[in-house]
Amino acid sequence: EYNGSSKASESVFKVPPIKFTKLFINGNFVDSVSGKTFEAIDPRTGEAITRVSEGDKEDIDLAVKAARQAFDHGPWPRMSGSERGRIMMKFADLIEENVEELAALDAINGGKLFSHCKAMDIPGAARNLRYYAGAADKIHGTVLKLSKGFQGYTLREPIGVVGSIIPWNFPTIMFFMKAGPALAAGCTMVVKPAEQTPLSALYYAHLAKLAGLPDGVLNVVNGFGETAGAAISSHMDIDKVTFTGSTEVGRKIMTAAAASNLKPVSLELGGKSPLLIFEDADIDQAGEICVASSRVYVQEGIYEIFVKKLVEKANAWVIGDPFDFRVNQGPQTDKKQFEKILSYIEHGKREGATLLTGGKRLGSKGFYIEPTIFTDVKEDMTIAKEEIFGPVMSLMKFKTMEEAIKRANNTTYGLAAGVITKNLNVANTVSRSIRAGIIWLNCYTAFDVDCPYGGYKMSGFGREFGLDALNQYLQIKSIVTPIHDSPW
Ligand code: NAD
Repeated sequence: EYNGSSKASESVFKVPPIKFTKLFINGNFVDSVSGKTFEAIDPRTGEAITRVSEGDKEDIDLAVKAARQAFDHGPWPRMSGSERGRIMMKFADLIEENVEELAALDAINGGKLFSHCKAMDIPGAARNLRYYAGAADKIHGTVLKLSKGFQGYTLREPIGVVGSIIPWNFPTIMFFMKAGPALAAGCTMVVKPAEQTPLSALYYAHLAKLAGLPDGVLNVVNGFGETAGAAISSHMDIDKVTFTGSTEVGRKIMTAAAASNLKPVSLELGGKSPLLIFEDADIDQAGEICVASSRVYVQEGIYEIFVKKLVEKANAWVIGDPFDFRVNQGPQTDKKQFEKILSYIEHGKREGATLLTGGKRLGSKGFYIEPTIFTDVKEDMTIAKEEIFGPVMSLMKFKTMEEAIKRANNTTYGLAAGVITKNLNVANTVSRSIRAGIIWLNCYTAFDVDCPYGGYKMSGFGREFGLDALNQYLQIKSIVTPIHDSPW
């Protein structure tokens, strides 16, 4: 049974001392220009782990200068793809050699399960780097036969200095989702991690240097969104911004990009992803899958039994210290998010949804919240429309496939969706009908580096992962020449 903060002291893994807390600019760890620092918090207790340097506009300027120099005059974009690939492979090896320490950083700072980070997030970073390292020497253009008297070819060139602004929910995966393809393309980068989770990014900067990445290619500036983040999106010397986070901030970033140098942006934004469970589904399998979904539609014939199974599951769910291997769910990442989730739960109750289970904070210390399930949820309720980003599920009943599709699409978002059915025709029809960037059939939240991921509608645009992501960091240049005195 969960008993608040006392579990934190029973951690099975001892977190090593934090090594890197300064900004990483031009290959060196440096203090911020202002000398300011901010706390990195442990969400198990709400207390500070350490303080990290707080970057602002001046620090972003210095980082952009370094990245600009490394792009305009440095070896990185001029190397052969295979040379870049070798350095990225080395970087991946170093990540694997330090997997436990890196997993501990995301667990202690992000509240993420240590076991998940160790088995998935950190090895996933290494896999990501290797995937794009392998692609780095396969970037090439095409030969063009133009109208009579001309011929040409295209070059695919790195886009330049990339600004990367990332959130706290997957500090490692988000970092490499952008850095893998950008580095393979030959770009240089200024990364601003989320203010909630600065620690692992600094460690990655250190490993990149050890792997032989030239100075200035990968800079990490910690800081807040409205200062350091805004300085990136409005910077005149950044050639592209890649962002993952809320739709609200995505809009600000696009506006700032347009108002400054019209830099292209790619945006991975919020979601309110539906999961559709049809009557023929294996209920136990469906119960396993739906833990990650916020809007669950269940066909009426299995609704009652499904609800019963789900409550049993929620009650057996173990909440507690993310370092404890028995735990299914750690704390929310920060106080702001924790309070936001609790306020959504209050909204749900006030608007007339039935609270089936959960609904409260757990313990009195740290940011733990009970897994919460609402039934009798109507589509116009706040909890059905807005992204909650916490362990809160809304359960809804449907009759026909047509109705389910219509209701699933009744959202301004379009990030992902899930379908649980054994009926191939239903699976195919629903997959084609839902306007979202990824559809999981009989699974949920299955990601891989070779599977493109990104939003429809207000969930953003551009694709992460796969070779599609590489294109986000490349420009196409056409070179045209006449052929004189030739029959061609
Ligand atoms: P957020 O948008 O507030 O913050 C994300 C990042 O943007 C942080 O680094 C933050 O410092 C920065 N930022 C904030 N204001 C900024 C500004 N004015 N200019 C530039 N940068 C700014 O998001 P959050 O609430 O911290 O994170 C959760 C959100 O992220 C959720 O809404 C979730 O949907 C979204 N998210 C989306 C995906 C995806 O794959 N599409 C993945 C993870 C999270």
